[in-house]
Amino acid sequence: MNKFQKVEDGSPGGDAGSRNGAVDQPHQLADATALQKQEIRERRQLEERLRQSNEELLLRLAELEQRDRDHLTLGKLSNYLKSCISSDEACTVITAFCPQLIPSDVGTLYRINSPGGYLERVASWGEITQEEKLFTVQDCWGLRRGQLHWTNGAGSGLLCQHATGSAEPIFPYMCIPLVAHGETVGLLFLQRLHAAAKAQEIGVKLESKLRLATAVGEEISLALANLKLHDTLRQQSLRDPLTGLYNRRFLEEYLVHERVRATRKNRPLSVIMLDIDHFKRVNDTFGHDAGDAVLRRMGLVLQGHVRGSDIACRIGGEEFALLLPEASLVIAYQRAERILDTVRHMQIKHRGQVLGAITVSLGVAAFPKHGETPEALIRAADQALYQAKQGGRNKLASA
Ligand code: GH3
Ligand code: MG
Ligand code: MG
Repeated sequence: MNKFQKVEDGSPGGDAGSRNGAVDQPHQLADATALQKQEIRERRQLEERLRQSNEELLLRLAELEQRDRDHLTLGKLSNYLKSCISSDEACTVITAFCPQLIPSDVGTLYRINSPGGYLERVASWGEITQEEKLFTVQDCWGLRRGQLHWTNGAGSGLLCQHATGSAEPIFPYMCIPLVAHGETVGLLFLQRLHAAAKAQEIGVKLESKLRLATAVGEEISLALANLKLHDTLRQQSLRDPLTGLYNRRFLEEYLVHERVRATRKNRPLSVIMLDIDHFKRVNDTFGHDAGDAVLRRMGLVLQGHVRGSDIACRIGGEEFALLLPEASLVIAYQRAERILDTVRHMQIKHRGQVLGAITVSLGVAAFPKHGETPEALIRAADQALYQAKQGGRNKLASA
């Protein structure tokens, strides 16, 4: 029962009520004012609570929308990475998508360099203030534990060795180890994370950002590991195992590409074909092993005579080819003369035995004069080689 009711009841005697009425009035008014104030206070508190929960709702909504966007961007990153055919392409994709997914001012992608286990910077974005520094798995807490590692600032977490140096690391920073098929392939190092700075205001957001960062790391790891495998297989399929030179398949592929380039840039392009003279005799006299030794040596000679964008190939048996982009017929001819001369003076020892004199015959042809298509160019160089053979071997001929 409230005080108003008590007054209105007026039950303790009508007279007494009217007599005390004048005295009670100020009290009643004061009580009513206090009550109104209390009600206003309560209403304000309620409004404040409503405002806060509204704000929280909006934040959650924004977070959900962001998560949705992140999910889409992650899907795109994954998709683009799957379409990459080289590590360089993958690096371009990573540098385009990572800053969108994990907002940070500075990012660096490192790849593990197998022989020494050193991490090599392969891509970066933002302004790198730290000097390039060689480091190993041992210098990063993330890599050592195979788990994402992040720290908010000096004194608030463990600092990685690679992050410290002449310049202070830019906090907050995050190390995302890139591990695929159980093998560590690299590291994603992100500095001045925006998400982590904001996370102090919104606790949940950090959690979801860390989850996202881990997912990003997994996508990149797999892509890099697959590309590495792809590269190895591709190298194996394009190289001749005996000499380490490129094979015929590669020559044909590369020649198509180089011919287009030569046409577009109006630059010369030449081919030298080479065949070892009477190679069958080497096999017959000294054995197949000795023959292999000669082929390997020939591979080294050719590698010693190529430069820059030139390509040396073993196209089969004892036949070799040199592809010389940007080289005119005259230059190619001079190069062939030098090879002829080097082989003439070459002495090959196999198992302590000096193999007889080895000579070669060479044919030179230039694009577009001797052939407009890759096939025609190779055919022209082959015909020149045939002429050299017909002319007595140990010679060179131009198409
Ligand atoms: P020519 O001067 O006319 O070129 O005579 P040639 O004896 O060099 O040519 P021919 O085509 O008659 O013989 C090539 C030989 O090369 C036959 C084959 O046994 C040998 N050969 C092909 N591939 C290999 C290889 O991988 N290792 C060894 N040792 N010999 C090989
Ligand atoms: Mg031959
Ligand atoms: Mg031969």
